[in-house]
Amino acid sequence: MTKKLYLETHGCQMNVHDSEKASYALAGAGYELTSIPTEADLILLNTCMVREKAARKVYSRIGELKRQHVEKSPSTGLPIFGVMGCVAQAEADRMFDRNKDIRLVLGTQAIGKLPELVSQLEDGFSRAIDIRLTKNAEFFELDADVRKTEHVAFITITEGCNKFCSFCIVPFTRGRERSRSADKIVAEAKSLAEHGFKEVHLLGQNVNSYGLSGLYHGNSVNEEADVLGEVTFAKLLERVAKESGLPRIKFTTSYPRDFDEQIVKVIDEHENLCEWIHLPAQSGSNRILRAMRRGYTREEYLHKIAAIKNAKKDLAITGDMIVGFPGETEEDFNETLSLAAETEYDGLYIFKYSPRPNTPAAAYTDSIPEEVKTERFLKLQELQMRIQAQRYGRYVNRTVEVLVEGESARSPEDCFGHTRCNKVVNFPAPKHLIGSLVNVKVTQAKNHSLYGHLV
Ligand code: SF4
Repeated sequence: MTKKLYLETHGCQMNVHDSEKASYALAGAGYELTSIPTEADLILLNTCMVREKAARKVYSRIGELKRQHVEKSPSTGLPIFGVMGCVAQAEADRMFDRNKDIRLVLGTQAIGKLPELVSQLEDGFSRAIDIRLTKNAEFFELDADVRKTEHVAFITITEGCNKFCSFCIVPFTRGRERSRSADKIVAEAKSLAEHGFKEVHLLGQNVNSYGLSGLYHGNSVNEEADVLGEVTFAKLLERVAKESGLPRIKFTTSYPRDFDEQIVKVIDEHENLCEWIHLPAQSGSNRILRAMRRGYTREEYLHKIAAIKNAKKDLAITGDMIVGFPGETEEDFNETLSLAAETEYDGLYIFKYSPRPNTPAAAYTDSIPEEVKTERFLKLQELQMRIQAQRYGRYVNRTVEVLVEGESARSPEDCFGHTRCNKVVNFPAPKHLIGSLVNVKVTQAKNHSLYGHLV
């Protein structure tokens, strides 16, 4: 009998891709995805720690799902509740004590172990856990024909991070950085193109350090060509652009210290490399950047931004910014405002600082009162909205290429999709166009999206 898996994903594209891998791993163990939690035999929450109080939310979400199950089917036993992702890695076996219904805790490198652990639970074990992090963990390979996303696919190129920014939990939850074999990445990109995917996103916590600090080993070794440090991110990007046959290639996330002009040059040279770079600054103040251990200065960051602006292609820049980091003065914050104004981001994710357990910054005094954080958040947001209005406004009357991804949530007459510069566009279109690349003339710019009509 087919068993049902309900899988809830929180967080970044990396987690979305990990969920695809988890559902594929469990399909081999007889599990079929369901969108109805009350009919599931196995409920997995794929968790994220970027937002505050992530762990607490996981426990309350499990309580909620349990209540729904008991109301719907009071006489049947509970499903297996499992947690994966960053919260599982960080909280480890404490999860079992904090919520007795959790029976499975799966670390970020253990997706391949899912069938084995679930089978132990089905055989009567009360709990199963695998939170090992090793320097040479193998990459989980996912064939093109078992993808859960449509039209746009994700390709892992690096996992983990060696940067240890003082506020960030990732090096502790995803382990040391590893780079995947370039041949495997190119082969995956080709196969995705052959299966009709129009766009791929090359993923990693820091894609720009591809091949520089990671270890090649196991299935990440390419015995013929990859030598540590010889296949840089720019070279990898060039190979994927030349060899994959994909019409659109994007990548995320870039890291200012490792981002170089060579990457801009390669984007300029290849039509299928899209006009979008996500380059988080996190702060505009050198003092705060040092406290964050980011490893670059404001001047160095702006130098890279200048290189992006000097590209032949019109590249959109997005970023992340943290306000209210411990010790951030008004002067520091003004530096952040001026950096945002100078960069002219097309989009900016703004976070109010909150400490993450086990990070170096968690030991600093969280000195900025909540109301000051909120005030700074709103001030930066207001500036960004003004900049964004101009950045989006400049597309009005332009024709942009859009990958049609589905029916718009707002109107059944409209479809939506993304431009090459990663902006959402809504436009009236017949549904048979879903999955194709179309040209849309932009007639209206909104705060976070564009509106137009097919040409
Ligand atoms: S580079 Fe990014 S993922 Fe790595 S520690 Fe810094 S913020 Fe975290």
